[in-house]
Amino acid sequence: MIANRWTDAEAQAFVAAAGADARARELALRVLTSRLIGRDPDLVMHGGGNTSLKSTAVDVFGEEVEVLHIKGSGWDLETIEAKGLPAVRLAPLMRLRSLPALSDEAMVNVQRLNLLDPSAPNPSVETLLHAWIPHKYVDHTHATAFLVLANLPEVAAATRELFGDRLTLVPYVMPGFELAKVAADAFDRNPDAEGLLLVNHGHFAWGPDAKSSYDRIVAHSNLVEAWLADRRPTPLIPAAALPVAEVAPVLSTLRGALASVLPDTAHLPVLDLRNGEAERSFCARPDLEDLATRGVATPDHVIRTKAEPLVLRAADQGAEAMRTAVQAYADRYRAYFDTHAPNAAEPKKILSPVPGLVWLEGLGIVGVGSTAAAARIAADIGCQSARVRADAERVGTFRPIGAKDLFDMEYWSLEQAKLGSGKAPALQGRVVLVTGGAGAIGLASARAFAAQGATLFLVDRPGEALEAAIAALGGDHGGYGCDITRPGAAAAAVAECAARFGGIDILLSNAGAAVTGEISTLDDRTLRDSFELNFFAHLAFSQAAIAHFRAQQAGRGARGAEPGQILFNVSKQAVNPGKGFAAYGLPKATTFFLLRQLALELGAEGIRVNGINADRIRSGLLSPDMIAARSAARGVDEATYMAGNLLQAEVEARHVADAFVMLARAERTTGHVMTVDGGNIEAALR
Ligand code: ZN
Repeated sequence: MIANRWTDAEAQAFVAAAGADARARELALRVLTSRLIGRDPDLVMHGGGNTSLKSTAVDVFGEEVEVLHIKGSGWDLETIEAKGLPAVRLAPLMRLRSLPALSDEAMVNVQRLNLLDPSAPNPSVETLLHAWIPHKYVDHTHATAFLVLANLPEVAAATRELFGDRLTLVPYVMPGFELAKVAADAFDRNPDAEGLLLVNHGHFAWGPDAKSSYDRIVAHSNLVEAWLADRRPTPLIPAAALPVAEVAPVLSTLRGALASVLPDTAHLPVLDLRNGEAERSFCARPDLEDLATRGVATPDHVIRTKAEPLVLRAADQGAEAMRTAVQAYADRYRAYFDTHAPNAAEPKKILSPVPGLVWLEGLGIVGVGSTAAAARIAADIGCQSARVRADAERVGTFRPIGAKDLFDMEYWSLEQAKLGSGKAPALQGRVVLVTGGAGAIGLASARAFAAQGATLFLVDRPGEALEAAIAALGGDHGGYGCDITRPGAAAAAVAECAARFGGIDILLSNAGAAVTGEISTLDDRTLRDSFELNFFAHLAFSQAAIAHFRAQQAGRGARGAEPGQILFNVSKQAVNPGKGFAAYGLPKATTFFLLRQLALELGAEGIRVNGINADRIRSGLLSPDMIAARSAARGVDEATYMAGNLLQAEVEARHVADAFVMLARAERTTGHVMTVDGGNIEAALR
């Protein structure tokens, strides 16, 4: 059930913060109930839904004008602010109703022209619908329960049974001028109604104040939800969730298979698996193939997920079977485009033929996107729409809009514009695993990769430092805590990364620690422990990452432009021993050799292996105490000590980070070690 989240205390706080102005207070409450709606994913998700307020504003002449505050595109109800509800002059919007027709572009233009603030975001495409309903507060959601009801062939009878005359049915029309007209006419025929049910789309409600409109949204949704609950069967008992070690290679292979229909230069998509009991239960249904072809629960989902998910039964989860299925999906998608594009008013350009959702029997629902955020949004919508389908099938039949309407929506010029233009960041969608990700160089590198659009997965010892590092990156990044020297830890960490994002593109094997002592008397344990961290962990992570690179390539069936790469944080010690640093230098020299050996053996697969020799960076390896001691020993101040190189400038973690990004982007470079030490002839490579 949907919780009614209204509290008088919060409302009073919003009103108080708005000050004495009555208009600001009305708007504050509009912001509040918009957020209350936005907080519930069973009401709206990811920019879906919109809200409005009819009020007044004072124009530049000091005259009061009637305005509609309406959600601006790009804003999410959950986090909306007053500026996300720009004011549009109401009179011109009202006048538009007299027109027989209006193109989408002309509609957007009129709406923009009548903004009081020309720098405000574009008013919602559902602005006119809000304007023409003569109530002060109007709310529109795509509530899960309403999506079930709205997609039943018997929606009219069921709505009458549940609501009587309180909800007016509006037949499916694509959002825009036409829908606004049909909805306003429906409103006029039943002006005492409390809301609208938009067939195959969603729900509207209204009221004289913010609370009453919100109350109706919640109450109406719960009425439908209760009706569904009575009819809901006990779900299929799904098999137990597979362990990560088994899920990860399937996802890596799928990731490659999805890219098999993309150009060679395209990077692999990011995946987001949802494998809760509900998703696994859904993906065990015998009628998946049939349900997959039915369309989306509300039209704007098609933009995020495409109309059809790809279904992969348990028997079809090998590399070749997956690739065949993805290629068949892409063929169907191209045929759908070729059927409908010639009938469109203007020329259309085909979108990527990769599905936005995969239903994996035994595993769950996978969101697919060019970024982790896009994959997450697709997965969220996929889970909701799976529940909608399951419920609708129980109550009757899930029958959403047909292929032509789907095409009109997917290739709608206004929606195409929303997807954004401009060049994607260089490393967008690349999944980068960083060991020692919470340390100075690890986190600086993670930030540098994230700034290029990459998705980061930080591995470090479990604890606050790791959590803080992941939080510092913000957005859709992940991580895993473990002792990387423990047997099996590397394979487990890489599997966690693949289970989280679908695979791995770049391993940045960075973790290390300096151990000191004269080699002539060094105890065996110290040296062996140092080898575990400074060599064997690098080897184990490399091997685990390579297995996933290969699974991705097996899925793709051919080598893409960047089938995987490994970056090592080596050390100046690998080539230029420092007194008392043998326990560090020996394994680092071995790691240096490992880098060249891997480059040699993996080159034919297109897998690049490079590294960095850095020196004298403030980090866990070189603590403030050590800096103080060493500069004192040399009789110089700390700044002079830190700048003790040819360039006479301190080398910082960010310089190492930038060099890692450069190597990652140097497409024809492998087996290379770059020095980032400000210049040191003794440590120069031959
Ligand atoms: Zn809508």
